[in-house]
Amino acid sequence: MAKVVDLTGKVALITGGTRGIGRAIAETLRDAGAEVYITGTNEERTKQIAEEISVNGVKMDVCDREEIKEIISEIVEKEGKIDILVNNAGVTKDTLFMRMKDEDWDRVIDTNLNGVYNVARQIIPVMMKKRSGCVVNISSVVGFTGNPGQANYSATKSALIGFTKSLAKEVASRGIRVNSVAPGYITTDMTQKIPEKVKEVLIKSIPMRREGEPSEIADTVLFLVSDMASYITGTTVHVNGGLF
Ligand code: NDP
Repeated sequence: MAKVVDLTGKVALITGGTRGIGRAIAETLRDAGAEVYITGTNEERTKQIAEEISVNGVKMDVCDREEIKEIISEIVEKEGKIDILVNNAGVTKDTLFMRMKDEDWDRVIDTNLNGVYNVARQIIPVMMKKRSGCVVNISSVVGFTGNPGQANYSATKSALIGFTKSLAKEVASRGIRVNSVAPGYITTDMTQKIPEKVKEVLIKSIPMRREGEPSEIADTVLFLVSDMASYITGTTVHVNGGLF
C-alpha cells in the first residue's frame, strides 16, 4: 500500500528558503502539512516571499551566531520544538584557485560550512530534548567530483558529508536522523550564473541530458524527513540525472 507523507504537527526550519531549492523545499513540506519557517538575509524580502508561499519568514543570516540564537529561541518559545532542519543556505564565489581572493574563500566557508554548524549547534539540543528530529544537509555533486573554479565551494560541500556522517553517529540513539542530499545541476539563480557555452557542455555530460528542477530536490528531502526513511541515517542521496 502506498504511504502518504503527512507532516502535520511538525515544525520545519529551512535556511535560505527565499529562492531556488530552499523555496521548493518550503513549499513541499508546507504541502505535506508542516509548519514551515524559511530564513533569508534580508528581512523585507524574506517576509514578502514567506507571505507569497504561506509559510513563516524570518531574517536569519547563517553567519550571525547571535542572531541565530535569538531567532531559534523565539521559534522554540512559540512552537515548543523544531522537528526538521534543512541546512540549505549556500553561496558560490567561483574562480580558479590561482585567482581566488581570501574573501572569496572566507565567504563561502563561512556561509556553506560554518553556517551549517552555527544553526545545527542551536537546534540539535532542542531535538535532543524531544528525543526526535531530522536534519538534511544540502551538499552537492561537486563535493564528490570536484570542479575547476570551485575549490572553495567543493571543499564546503565535501565537508558536509563528513559532518553528516559524524553527527548522525552521535545523535542516532536520541532518535535524530541526519542525512544529506547531493544535487547535480539544478535550475536556480545559482546556476543562471554559469555561461551558456559552459552549460551546453555540462548538459551533454548529464546522462539524462537536462538540468534538474528544484522540486526534484524537494521531493528527496520530503522522503528523508518522512517515516518512509525511518531507518536511514548518516548517508547521502544523489540527485543528479546520472551525472555521478
Ligand atoms: P540560490 O542562490 O537560488 O539561493 C540561495 C539561498 O541561500 C537564498 O535563499 C539565499 O537567501 C540563501 N542564503 C545565502 N546566504 C545566506 C546566509 N548567509 N544566510 C541565510 N541565507 C542565505 O541557490 P540554490 O537554490 O541553487 O542552492 C540552494 C542550496 O543547494 C545551496 O546550498 C547550494 O550550494 C546547493 N546546491 C545547488 C545546486 C544547483 O545546481 N543550483 C547544485 C548543488 C547544490 P537570500 O534571499 O538572503 O539571498
